[in-house]
Amino acid sequence: MAKMKTVLFPGSFDPLTYGHVDIVSRALHIFDNIVIGVLSNPQKGSLFTAEERVELIREQFFDLKERVVVETFSGLLVEFAKEKEINVVLRGLRAISDFDYEAQMALMNKSLSPEIETFFLMTREKYSYISSSLVKQVAPFGGSVQELVPPVIQQALKHKYSALK
Ligand code: ADP
Repeated sequence: MAKMKTVLFPGSFDPLTYGHVDIVSRALHIFDNIVIGVLSNPQKGSLFTAEERVELIREQFFDLKERVVVETFSGLLVEFAKEKEINVVLRGLRAISDFDYEAQMALMNKSLSPEIETFFLMTREKYSYISSSLVKQVAPFGGSVQELVPPVIQQALKHKYSALK
């Protein structure tokens, strides 16, 4: 029997979008388990705290909790991967504009830690324009984000923005 293969999907997820959800569900056809690593970076000024993001993602994948584990991390991704004993990092690719940054990160991580591979999944066409920053540009003004984020996140956005008002 092959041993269980786990992949690490790191990101800000501020907030989780249908684009992220799609990458996770497709990766579950390839890997046995996914650890979603939520980057906690207090300097970066996120809308949701890292703990809130973790809770929301856990809620979204509640039915898959045996296979999808959600944790925060800070500092170097390769250190977190080593700590978790995972050697494949999953990233999604949208436009060409993602490519430069992703290539830079993948090469940097490879030089920091040669045993780690970066695995890319191309976005699905219908999600290719979705990003967390787009959500944050639309939601505060009451624009509909139902095509962009799952219901759990829609609710959280409503609460967040009414609390911020
Ligand atoms: P980061 O700040 O690390 O880029 P994000 O939460 O923005 O964090 O993205 C995490 C990962 O999800 C990245 O690999 C990104 O390319 C991917 N991603 C984000 N949106 C989409 C989408 N609509 N389709 C496919 N992949 C996506």
